[in-house]
Amino acid sequence: MTLNDLKIGQTARINAVGGEGALRRHFLDMGVIPGAEVSFVKLAPMGDPMELRLHGYELTLRRADAEHIQVTLLDAPSSSEGSIRPKERHAEHPGLGQEGKYHPKGSGDPLPEGTLLRFALVGNQNSGKTTLFNQLTGSNQHVGNFPGVTVDRKDGMIRGHRDTSITDLPGIYSMSPYSSEELVSRNFVLNEKPQAVINIVDATNIHRNLYLTMQLLELNIPVVVALNMMDELVGNGGSVDINAMEDLLGVPVVPISAVRNEGVDELIQHAIHIARYQERPLRQDFCDAGDHGGAVHRCLHAVIHLIEDHAEAAGLPVRFAAGKLIEGDPLILDQLRLDQNEKEMLEHIVLQMETERGLDRSAAMADMRFSFIGRVCDACVTRPHESREHIRSEKIDRLLTGKFTAIPLFIAVMGLIFFLTFNVIGAWLQDLFAAGIEALSALVDTAMTGAGINPAIHGLIVNGIFEGVGSVLSFLPIIVTMFFFLSLLEDSGYIARVAFFMDKLLRKIGLSGRSIVPMLIGFGCTVPAVMSTRTLPSDRDRRMTILLTPFMSCTAKLPIYAFFVAAFFPRRGWLVITALYVLGILLGILAALLYKRTLFTGEAVTFVMELPNYRLPGLRNVLHLLWEKAKDFLQRAFSVILIATVVVWFLKSFNFHFNLVADTHDSMLAAIAGVLVPLFRPLGLGDWRICTSLISGFMAKESVVSVLEVLFSDRGGGAAAMTTLSAAALRVFSLLYTPCVAAIASIRRELGRRWAVAVVLWQCGVAWLAALLVRLIGMLLGLG
Ligand code: GDP
Ligand code: MG
Repeated sequence: MTLNDLKIGQTARINAVGGEGALRRHFLDMGVIPGAEVSFVKLAPMGDPMELRLHGYELTLRRADAEHIQVTLLDAPSSSEGSIRPKERHAEHPGLGQEGKYHPKGSGDPLPEGTLLRFALVGNQNSGKTTLFNQLTGSNQHVGNFPGVTVDRKDGMIRGHRDTSITDLPGIYSMSPYSSEELVSRNFVLNEKPQAVINIVDATNIHRNLYLTMQLLELNIPVVVALNMMDELVGNGGSVDINAMEDLLGVPVVPISAVRNEGVDELIQHAIHIARYQERPLRQDFCDAGDHGGAVHRCLHAVIHLIEDHAEAAGLPVRFAAGKLIEGDPLILDQLRLDQNEKEMLEHIVLQMETERGLDRSAAMADMRFSFIGRVCDACVTRPHESREHIRSEKIDRLLTGKFTAIPLFIAVMGLIFFLTFNVIGAWLQDLFAAGIEALSALVDTAMTGAGINPAIHGLIVNGIFEGVGSVLSFLPIIVTMFFFLSLLEDSGYIARVAFFMDKLLRKIGLSGRSIVPMLIGFGCTVPAVMSTRTLPSDRDRRMTILLTPFMSCTAKLPIYAFFVAAFFPRRGWLVITALYVLGILLGILAALLYKRTLFTGEAVTFVMELPNYRLPGLRNVLHLLWEKAKDFLQRAFSVILIATVVVWFLKSFNFHFNLVADTHDSMLAAIAGVLVPLFRPLGLGDWRICTSLISGFMAKESVVSVLEVLFSDRGGGAAAMTTLSAAALRVFSLLYTPCVAAIASIRRELGRRWAVAVVLWQCGVAWLAALLVRLIGMLLGLG
């Protein structure tokens, strides 16, 4: 039978993993290997994908892919899963761990004083790399409980150690790259040759995490294993015999808890020591001559001998290269430049192994690694009883991914977020903020009038800067509140669930569940949303998702909506704003259907993802994120938006002879922006002042508001100068038209210049049509 034939709650043992190519590799790397036990936990609300539990963690898989996995049904989970061993194996550790005794300290030949020690932080997704990075460096990178939050490498210095640099890399499950960010990690370790690797291992999930560790050890560079999340392991009655593990792995192992900053100092000591003394792993040979007749063992060693000279010439660690060659890694094969004879020999050796072992090459290698890991775990890990965190997650999931509750709750959660942001918390804070700014502005106004300051400068400061920048600043609270909720979603692990139950829907528009993440992030800001598409394993999905993010209304557009809504719909404002968001999503779906038919035919890649346990986001992390966002916003307000406002003020106050104009219609700005007026007339926005505000919105969306305020200051502000209908058309146009410069720049980085220009034109076109439609419908309804 296949995995797909299992019923919910049943457990089975995997016999064979079919399928092909990169996806199959990914399965094997995630621990879906012959011999492993899987339990079928549940189906997503729409019947696909399925949630499985194996090696003590949750994995999602589409049913169509499960068809390729052959299994035999087991009566009950075998006793080794989740068993509790006698308490005496539990060792109390100082801090959290036994002192790593592995290496004699201070012996051998150190690198010369003052050598820059470069470290790479490598580990599975969600193992706590970024949390540890922040502890090590004292910086504040964004932490999230979702596979793929760190998408680019980040560098820092270990605090207190000047000659060090440490790089936080995206999470990987193995050294065979599956998505483009995984390649970033692998290439960093292989090509930039850091002096040492800090391998972070999630202690609550040692089995799967060690798979990567083994491949790192094969690289023959100094490695220290940081066993993270020890608090959770120990808290649930588990323990690790650290010294035994060090003996088996041949590298120092340091138990830590990154969130609690426990064991981190000790980790630093060990890391610096192994880097300075270049202590390489004592063990790189994990194949066992006694394992299934030793077929894999003989094959590996034969290949090692065959390619030794090539690997040296290519600068690749020979054991690592041999392993990857056997698995059929094309990138490594290229680098080694084997001649035809050697290639044939290689193929013979591998074929022989496949016959003897009765498994194909990838599965045989994965199996070899996992059987070594099995021995390590048996020897030194006391499994915890089912963790509190996991039981809690299961309970929460019964509701949040339940068959009938998942989607209603998702809508309710999003609705609640919007309601709280716009109607309760954000709005309340915003009123407070706006009142403060107004008071300050009035104060300055009277003071300057009193001091008899030149009217032009007075105008610039009061009508330009205070009106303009101030109107934008007052939206800071809403934006921060919105980011607060988005980061809660992300850090708690909920977004991963959303990806899980939305997969089937997203497949209908040609994407996979994973694409939901960039889109939800896009509600915050398009720039990180575009970056986060790097976690998507296929180029097609990546491009398509990037093209859809502009439809997700970012927080910078909020001031525009809120500004008009406050004027036209003082009471039901949050409904109108929510409607705008929904409109963006609906048009995004239409666009996706269009893209699917035209630009991106073909299937979305399969959906294999880990579902992490729910975790309470750390207060410190959340606060830091909010501070970052607030800072970012303030910086923009006082740079781009301020400049745009001043420039606009200047252009509207002077004519081409640099004389102050009495009527702004005679100004330079009226002449310049007037060119665009005919284009916007059909939308009911045929006023040069509105055109100007939209142009400035390209720099930063918030400045649409500030510019309108400045330009219409003589007519009681932007809102007063518009009708309900033209304001509606303007909102819809702002929702959809080109993303700001920063977003376009990041799209250009990902897709290239041509695509970036195309996005600008396309979004403007869509926005124009949509705004026209709004106007026509409004006129039919007798508005405006
Ligand atoms: P990354 O994907 O490897 O960069 O992982 P993150 O640093 O983003 O962390 C993933 C999740 O694990 C976050 O929710 C962290 O708060 C949590 N976490 C990290 N380290 C620890 C730890 O030592 N103990 C516990 N209980 N949670 C941790
Ligand atoms: Mg990270």
